[in-house]
Amino acid sequence: MPVTDQAFVTLATNDVYCHGALVLGQSLRNHKTSRRLAVLITSQVSSAMRAALNTIFDTVVDVNEIDSNDSMHLALLERLELGVTFTKLHCWTLTQYSKCVFMDADTLVLCNIDELFDREELSAAPDSGWPDCFNSGVFVFKPSLKTYNLLLQFANEHGSFDGGDQGLLNSFFSNWATTDINKHLPFLYNLSSSVVYTYAPAFQYFGKDTKVVHFLGPSKPWNYKYNPQTGTVIEDSSSSLSNSQLCFLQLWWTTYSSDVLPLLEKTQESSEPQIQREESVQKAEGSLEVHIAEPSESSPEPTFNPTPQETVKMDDVTSSVSELCIQPNPEVLSAEDERRKWEEGHIDYLGKDAFENIKKKLDSFLL
Ligand code: UDP
Ligand code: MN
Repeated sequence: MPVTDQAFVTLATNDVYCHGALVLGQSLRNHKTSRRLAVLITSQVSSAMRAALNTIFDTVVDVNEIDSNDSMHLALLERLELGVTFTKLHCWTLTQYSKCVFMDADTLVLCNIDELFDREELSAAPDSGWPDCFNSGVFVFKPSLKTYNLLLQFANEHGSFDGGDQGLLNSFFSNWATTDINKHLPFLYNLSSSVVYTYAPAFQYFGKDTKVVHFLGPSKPWNYKYNPQTGTVIEDSSSSLSNSQLCFLQLWWTTYSSDVLPLLEKTQESSEPQIQREESVQKAEGSLEVHIAEPSESSPEPTFNPTPQETVKMDDVTSSVSELCIQPNPEVLSAEDERRKWEEGHIDYLGKDAFENIKKKLDSFLL
């Protein structure tokens, strides 16, 4: 039964973050949430993106951008672009809902998480960098204009110690660390993908139960290159990702390429005349090319650059991802044949290569 007075809420202030919002929304749908899906957007979001968001989300809400303009603290965080995350505060104005779960646009849901609605405001998971603070990428809250106004007032008077929403929210809900353990969500509801390095044995032991992955930090899934023919994420030469991180990226990209890209192609066609930002999606010689116009100076967005004609590092990447993520069916195909099919781009998204199987394989690897 749908629960119409509760919602998952996310935010995208530009088209780039919309790609994340669409994947998040789709992942919630894939795991059959019974709650409404709402997305907050600002005027920079193009009409083609709005149309795509409208097909996945129940509600697309236009809000004004709020920027902390706190370059000093943001510089310390090395994330000057995060001043606009104050826009998140608008989520408290969604008073048509009695309770909501906010999720950053760079999160991905791996199973149904509707049980989060049993929690009260403000419930959140610890931040891996400073565990006495909560991470504001996933939190349970109760919409209220009173709280919204108090938050704005607090922001005006005190600012934010990190220049972004997380510093502000932690100061406002300052008793989170000490008062009520029920408001501490398990880390599995907001697992930062870098924990694979910071506490590898814990990830090995607990990671199989991950419910939400958060691609926290400056490198987002949409900054990676992806070869749709082989169905693999291509590592940047400067990054060295663990198998598990690659697998999470792979899951994001599988959802993106199988569910979101076709939708974007469709909405692009139907809203072509109103497109404000040049964007086209095409398949060229089996490789995916997504072009997005250069971001304007006022919106320092991450770039989205899936692979053009790049040589795929088949041996280093494909093998590890396919061995890790894909559940071979030994009765039908040998592992070698299975891998060849995967590399040739014959990916059975709805069958053996479906998300559930990828997750099972990840679980078995972790166990
Ligand atoms: N966000 C946005 N536009 C921006 C930057 C951030 O809409 O230019 C939103 C988006 O929902 C994003 C959230 O604010 O997920 C927090 O930013 P981000 O995830 O980049 O921060 P991190 O989790 O890496 O600290
Ligand atoms: Mn985030």
